[in-house]
Amino acid sequence: MECIFCKIIEGAIPAKLIYDHNGVIAIEDINPQAPTHLLIVPKKHFENAGEIADSDSETLAEMFKVAKELAKSHSLSGYRTIFNTGADAGQSVFHAHLHLMGGRAFGWPPG
Ligand code: 5GP
Ligand code: ZN
Repeated sequence: MECIFCKIIEGAIPAKLIYDHNGVIAIEDINPQAPTHLLIVPKKHFENAGEIADSDSETLAEMFKVAKELAKSHSLSGYRTIFNTGADAGQSVFHAHLHLMGGRAFGWPPG
C-alpha cells in the first residue's frame, strides 16, 4: 500500500518517534509549522478522523489524551489540535493524524 504513514509505522521509512503506546504513535512533523509540531497517528489505517469516529471511537479519544499528555511533557502553555479532512481543508496524507502544535502564538481564523 502506498501510504507514507503505514510505511513509517512498519519502519520502512524513518521518523522521529516521540510516543508509541496503545496502538497510537506520535512523530515529529517533517515540515514543522510551530516550535512543537507533532503528528499523533493511529497504527491502524483510517482515511480521516470521521472514519476513526465511526469504527474506533476509543482510539479517537486516546489520540486526544496523548495530545494532552504530550502538550504537558513539552511544557506547552497552550496548543492546537487539528484534523484536516479532505484536500480542500489541506489534508495531504490520507492516513488520519492529529496535528499537535504549540510553542508560538496562533492567529484566528486559521489560514
Ligand atoms: P495534512 O496536510 O495531511 O493535514 O498533514 C500531513 C503532514 O504530514 C504535514 O504536516 C507534513 O509535513 C507531514 N509529513 C508528510 N510526509 C511526512 C513524512 O514522511 N514524515 C513526517 N514525519 N511527516 C510527514
Ligand atoms: Zn496508512
